[in-house]
Amino acid sequence: MRIGDIIREARKQKNLTLRELELLSGVSHSQISKIERFVDNPTKETVYKLVEALEIENELIDTSEHKKIDTKDLIRYQVLTRDNFTCQLCGNIAPETKVVVAKIVPSELEDEQDQNNLITLCSHCNNGRTMQIEQEGIDNDILYKNHESKNQTP
Ligand SMILES: [Zn+2]
Repeated sequence: MRIGDIIREARKQKNLTLRELELLSGVSHSQISKIERFVDNPTKETVYKLVEALEIENELIDTSEHKKIDTKDLIRYQVLTRDNFTCQLCGNIAPETKVVVAKIVPSELEDEQDQNNLITLCSHCNNGRTMQIEQEGIDNDILYKNHESKNQTP
């Protein structure tokens, strides 16, 4: 079964018109119609919007893109638990303070999935740090300096 058939069948089962599915999925009705008639080859992102909206579970649909999102959440979670949900600069703890997982080295310079490059910060520290890096550059940043010296020890 092809993706167009899967979408159309699931839509009919749920008794949805193209317009209704447009509202649920955010994919335009004209594009859904083209996908169902195999006129348009949808991107993975579009397929996911439709799969989510129609609650389709089908092994024929490749879910690798979906798993990538889960991996991101997993890494974020692992960093938060490693740091005890505590800001590594000022010691504020979630949930009293909003904490974020921040990159020590900006992503264009280093792998986004590397836990050693990720750190738990409260939003205040993260905002302050971001502004200081914008003003003075990354070289004066204390987290960056620690990170670099750690990497250089043999
Ligand atoms: Zn903080």
